[in-house]
Amino acid sequence: MIRLAILGSTGSIGRSALSVVETHRDRLHVAVLAAGENSALLAEQVRAVRPEAVALASDAACDDLRSRLEGVDVEVLPSGPEGLLAAATWPDVDVVLCASSGTAGLEAALLALGQGRTLALANKEVLVMAGALMVDTAARHGGLILPVDSEHNAIHQCLDGRRIDDVRRLILTASGGPFRDCDRSALERVTPDDALRHPTWQMGRKITIDSATLMNKGLEVIEARWLFGVTGDRIDVLVHPQSIVHSMVEFVDGSILAQLGVTDMRLPIQYAFSYPERWAAPVPPLDLTRTGPLEFLPPDLERFPCLRLAYDALGHGGAWPVALNAANEVAVEAFLDGELGFTAIPEVIEGVLHAADDHFGAPANLGEVRAADRWARDRARAAVGTLRSTNTAS
Ligand code: NDP
Repeated sequence: MIRLAILGSTGSIGRSALSVVETHRDRLHVAVLAAGENSALLAEQVRAVRPEAVALASDAACDDLRSRLEGVDVEVLPSGPEGLLAAATWPDVDVVLCASSGTAGLEAALLALGQGRTLALANKEVLVMAGALMVDTAARHGGLILPVDSEHNAIHQCLDGRRIDDVRRLILTASGGPFRDCDRSALERVTPDDALRHPTWQMGRKITIDSATLMNKGLEVIEARWLFGVTGDRIDVLVHPQSIVHSMVEFVDGSILAQLGVTDMRLPIQYAFSYPERWAAPVPPLDLTRTGPLEFLPPDLERFPCLRLAYDALGHGGAWPVALNAANEVAVEAFLDGELGFTAIPEVIEGVLHAADDHFGAPANLGEVRAADRWARDRARAAVGTLRSTNTAS
């Protein structure tokens, strides 16, 4: 029996993970669940999978959960970061799925790797913030990072057992998001509701906006750098609107291996749970006679500057990747709250990046990562405030 800890169980990835568990109850046991504030859904999940322990982000959510679970034998861990850490290190867990949003899961992911555990990683932001630290921790303690992000999962499948020296480049595919064909003036009028309608994937709100700006692909470029140990100049992005080819690897002899499949996150999640085995999946297989033509186009970095900014941050190094991630999170939140226009998201991020060097070098430890992250958030919030007051005045 494979024992799982699922961090972010009430989210889009977490719910898909529990659907995988439902299909493979004979092989998978959920030992612990952790979520943010959604105590109602977590209570339902507890009744369905009977974990040994649960964690939530706040005292209020924990109190509500306890009242919903009277008489149910489950340990409610301390609220907040302490509970998340306890969940990630719960006894005898084989695989920790890190699918909490934002950066709350960073310490938990590091701790799991530090105990030599397998980390099924959906939460790309933590790798963007602290990729060197995570890879180093995994290497020193025998931990394994298995990518759940469909693109990296595809690359993992293409690379499995092959030498990274034989790789010419990694090719990440991107759906292109809902505004693939919009011109600059149309992009300026985009509302949060428009941006939340992704053409091919059903995901949480933050990643859906990131997909619309192509920042999601930018974060994935940085994620790929750390997962596979290749530099940014060997990681390309191709827009592939059909989202059938999940990513590809080109080898030095010119051969390209691709992984294809239906767009359902249960597949990469299950791969990470079953690795190195493969199990029958709870989704119908891809019918190639019905996919229609498959297109591959270069991304437009002029209309979607967030992708360019991510390449810049990776190439520049230092604190830029941390600043990129933090500023993006603040800008996306402001956009969703109606405080910032869609095309102002990259403006806020770029300003923060250029200021970062005056304050930070490359963060050498977790404390420095967190300090750079806090600084970039404050700076981004100030930039949002300035843009808002300029727009109100004009
Ligand atoms: P959602 O917003 O749907 O879910 C986020 C989850 O994180 C929820 O369970 C939420 O709990 C939990 N959470 C939020 N804050 C905390 C906290 N402080 N402590 C513990 N848990 C917390 O996001 P997604 O599932 O879409 O994405 C999760 C991660 O996976 C992201 O990093 C995303 O980039 C990545 N990813 C997602 C994909 C997708 O298809 N959705 C694809 C590839 C990667 P609650 O709701 O209870 O507050």
